[in-house]
Amino acid sequence: MSDGAPGLVVRCGRCGQPNRVPTARVFDGPRCGTCRHALPLGGAPLALSERDFDAVVSAATVPVVVDFWATWCGPCKSIAPSLEHAAAELAGRLLIGKVDVDECPSLAARFDATSVPLLVAFRGGEPVERQVGALPTDELSRWLERHARA
Ligand SMILES: [Zn+2]
Repeated sequence: MSDGAPGLVVRCGRCGQPNRVPTARVFDGPRCGTCRHALPLGGAPLALSERDFDAVVSAATVPVVVDFWATWCGPCKSIAPSLEHAAAELAGRLLIGKVDVDECPSLAARFDATSVPLLVAFRGGEPVERQVGALPTDELSRWLERHARA
């Protein structure tokens, strides 16, 4: 985000107004600033920063898969569309987060993201499985589906 505030922009399903939702407020039932309609969240990967990572991952009411990626990583780019697709497909059952390892060196170190892409699945705030390297599309969607809430 250009102003440095982490968050995502969500378009209101009722009035169409784009709303910026700070990452830390994602699970607080955010509403449209214009018409107060509840905003549809979880339909797109959520960019996480060192500032909000723990708040989001531990507060998530659904399992979370975090994609540790880098702008210079070709395989990371190749799986990005699959992750976007899965975020929409599995909305409400799985939250997909993205961590840029160059912008978040302490998260990269904490989760040992020495090779990217690295996917880490979290349940109840705890890491439960790691996947290093890009999986083929089919395998990736099965892996994500397996971690989604039934
Ligand atoms: Zn609205």
